[in-house]
Amino acid sequence: MDLALSGKRALITGGSVGIGLAVAHALAAEGVHIAICARNGDRAQAAADAIAQTHGVETLALPADVAQAADINHLVTALTSAWDGIDILINNAGTGSEEKILTAPDDKWQYYWDLHVMAAVRLSRALAPTMKTRGGGAIINNASICATQPLYYEPIYNTTKSALVMFSKCLANELIPDDIRVNTINPGLVLTPDWRKTAGILTEGTDRTADDYLNQIAEDNTPIKRFASPEEVANFFVFLCSPKASYCVGSTYYVDGGWLKVT
Ligand code: NDP
Repeated sequence: MDLALSGKRALITGGSVGIGLAVAHALAAEGVHIAICARNGDRAQAAADAIAQTHGVETLALPADVAQAADINHLVTALTSAWDGIDILINNAGTGSEEKILTAPDDKWQYYWDLHVMAAVRLSRALAPTMKTRGGGAIINNASICATQPLYYEPIYNTTKSALVMFSKCLANELIPDDIRVNTINPGLVLTPDWRKTAGILTEGTDRTADDYLNQIAEDNTPIKRFASPEEVANFFVFLCSPKASYCVGSTYYVDGGWLKVT
């Protein structure tokens, strides 16, 4: 199937590793030029170089902490001075949290609000006008199954991802007249460095290994009994970005191996 994406331009936040990197490769395989943003500039540059070499597309590595408004301003300036705009925005950067509501301080709530919600607000506000000029586009917000079905140990993550889903729905209504489709993907268990970090934290000081924990959580929670690879999830991102998904607007799609218990 020709996804009609060749020659488009995409910005992927958190595109240097994990799901974001898999999305970057999958889009580049369709001929999309790729800008990657992450805090660690060396890792972003290495990913951008590998994508350019593998797929023969243009790439940019743009170091930024998307939880910081000033960094987003710099990111947008760097991006729009290299390219006249983008067609695809993937708001993917994010990470798990670990806390109790009664003891988590305000600044932790604020950090995750900035990372999971305001980054998407600020980047959409800055870059949607360039999509409009270029004739339309697609914005995909990577939330989580936890936006609907929370994990007990990360209430701030659950809450901020839920807010991202609602933001996405509101933005979709505002941008569809300009032919910009906004959707959310809620992945389930995807084996990335972030899960390995979480498993390490949760098993520290216990007699279980991180791998035991990961196998058990997949066995206990998912009908499919395993984690997804980042590539399995990335395929769905690519489809939603393409004109083949032209009637997909303002929706939330679960890619979760059957983990969601009710719809
Ligand atoms: P990883 O930790 O593997 O990768 C996270 C990426 O985001 C890295 O490129 C990291 O680079 C970047 N990043 C993190 N914080 C920032 C920041 N403040 N500013 C800019 N870049 C940042 O994560 P995953 O691939 O597992 O997750 C990606 C997204 O998918 C997240 O939003 C996560 O919540 C969501 N998700 C993941 C699931 C899973 O099972 N893995 C399930 C459901 C949702 P650097 O550290 O250099 O900044």
